[in-house]
Amino acid sequence: MPKKIAIIGAGASGMMLAATLVELGFSPESISLFERNPRMGKKVAITGGGRCNVTTGIRSKKELLSKYVRGGDFLEGVLWAFSPKKTAEWFAAHGCPLKTQDDLRVFPVSDSADEVVAVFERALGGIDLRLSTKVEGVRVKKGEGGRSEFFVSHSETHERFDALVISTGWAAYSKTGSDGSGHALAKSLGHPVTPLRPSLSAYETLEDWTKGLSGLAIPRAKLFSEGASFSEWGLLFTHFGITGPAVFELSARLAFTECSPSTPIFLRISPDASRTFDHWEAEISNAFFQNGAKEWKNVLSLLLPRRLSETVVALSGVSGEKKCATVSREERKSVCRLLSLGIPVTLVGTRPGEEFVTAWGIDTSFVDSATMESKLIENLYFTGEVLDVDAVTGGFNLQSCWSTGRAAGRAIAEKFGR
Ligand SMILES: Cc1cc2nc3c(=O)[nH]c(=O)nc-3n(C[C@H](O)[C@H](O)[C@H](O)COP(=O)(O)OP(=O)(O)OC[C@H]3O[C@@H](n4cnc5c(N)ncnc54)[C@H](O)[C@@H]3O)c2cc1C
Repeated sequence: MPKKIAIIGAGASGMMLAATLVELGFSPESISLFERNPRMGKKVAITGGGRCNVTTGIRSKKELLSKYVRGGDFLEGVLWAFSPKKTAEWFAAHGCPLKTQDDLRVFPVSDSADEVVAVFERALGGIDLRLSTKVEGVRVKKGEGGRSEFFVSHSETHERFDALVISTGWAAYSKTGSDGSGHALAKSLGHPVTPLRPSLSAYETLEDWTKGLSGLAIPRAKLFSEGASFSEWGLLFTHFGITGPAVFELSARLAFTECSPSTPIFLRISPDASRTFDHWEAEISNAFFQNGAKEWKNVLSLLLPRRLSETVVALSGVSGEKKCATVSREERKSVCRLLSLGIPVTLVGTRPGEEFVTAWGIDTSFVDSATMESKLIENLYFTGEVLDVDAVTGGFNLQSCWSTGRAAGRAIAEKFGR
């Protein structure tokens, strides 16, 4: 009798795992892939703004691992076994060539996330695919020869399997299907699961000036908070506060720092990471000197996006109508401090259900880092975001899904024969 494998969740990691099994000669009809949505890869299809940042062009192992805020050590082996380079080759071989941008983010040449999902739709043609099927419960018991057997319940039916993979994601962007039910499934099997926290999230701000700048993007912002500074990537003002890669990195690093109106996070936003206090002072002094008869608010707008310069003027406490020649040295310095040390902002909450990934999850000390098999329950595997692994933006989160899916697929194929 061929061994039967159940995979719960047809997201990035579950699809890669199933494709690996098929590729390694596992009988397709023995692979049951349960997905509550009517189609596979609903989240993958919206990644990267619909373009899917599949992986990264970074080739240094040290630099790659530094992008994982949690779980880098655990991932080290599998990230190298199925590296970003091998991932790109794999997608190209499956009809989806990738391209590397200057910022080292890697996208399909077609700029279409749907094309990434289509790779798996083709690869998984013959498997036992159960779309629109939500797994409600799982049980494990000792079967023949003392081996674990798994019973998967859905729509009032129970089915028996020889191995079980939980690749449900956690609760990030729950409208794509990852509603946190994987947490309950893992717990019901007696597997230790840590509490979950949102990561890669936007923040709501107390101040209204951020909302007034809605739609304005700053390409190289630098953020300062809790005694640390964060990335120099883009920041976007929104109708509720701030978002963008720099903000996501902040949220990943501060995932376990409470953020609410009663426990706010104090942040400073420097609008141009490349300019120090001395740079600003030299530029502003020069501009004011050359435009002595003009109002300083109009001169500052030559150095910053206009809407942002209006905000800086309003927050500076120096009347914008003052002529440049009459702005005192001390007043000029206070503006330069605002720009270099950052404009203060009070963060009062994240946006629940809209975060891109979840921090924490399955405690990786109970998971074999080469195979993704549980160290507590034989033949139980975890892949993707359910593991206590998460990274900043740039293709690293999908890469850990591809690598863990690939590792578990190889291990299952080896263990259960072809
Ligand atoms: C808007 C957005 C953009 C992103 N962009 C990028 C990007 O460009 N690059 C990048 O690297 N990362 C990106 N990410 C993060 C990345 O998409 C995730 O880390 C990754 O998709 C997680 O994959 P997964 O396989 O672990 O889980 P998921 O992709 O969440 O898939 C889990 C699947 O399991 C199914 N499921 C859950 N519970 C059950 C159940 N009980 N029964 C049956 N099915 C179930 C769900 O419906 C879902 O389809 C983005 C995330 C978001 C939200």
